[in-house]
Amino acid sequence: MRGPDRGDSAPSGRGTSLLRLELSSSRSRQAIDITHLFTSRTWPDGLLLVSVEHTTAALFLGESGSEMFEDYERVAARLVAASGPFRHETWNPGNAQAHVLSSFLGTQLLLPISGGRLDVGTWQRVIFLELDGPRRRSIAVASLATQPLG
Ligand code: ZN
Repeated sequence: MRGPDRGDSAPSGRGTSLLRLELSSSRSRQAIDITHLFTSRTWPDGLLLVSVEHTTAALFLGESGSEMFEDYERVAARLVAASGPFRHETWNPGNAQAHVLSSFLGTQLLLPISGGRLDVGTWQRVIFLELDGPRRRSIAVASLATQPLG
């Protein structure tokens, strides 16, 4: 089983414009820094459209670190804890809360690429938030190449 830090990527097919990255979570709620998936290679200048292909996970730019991850996970749980009971809970308790958080936090990012490299702020990391794990997850990446502005 591949760990979340490996982030093996598998092109969805030669000549296609979509790259599919994969990772595995190990807990029900888990923040994972996946920045290395985007810094370990060069990209066409422009923007990367990054999409989590699931309804029970989220994606955002944020501060990294174990303490910060605990905060993300705890706050995510509290955001939805008082909103129950949930109707979409018949076969998997917690699943509806995961759907709501995923929708509200978002599942897509646009990442700037300059000089072939990820061009974000010093402390900005790409954070994947598992909301209904542990699961194997996939993230689709499409390059939106742009023309020079100046
Ligand atoms: Zn569901």
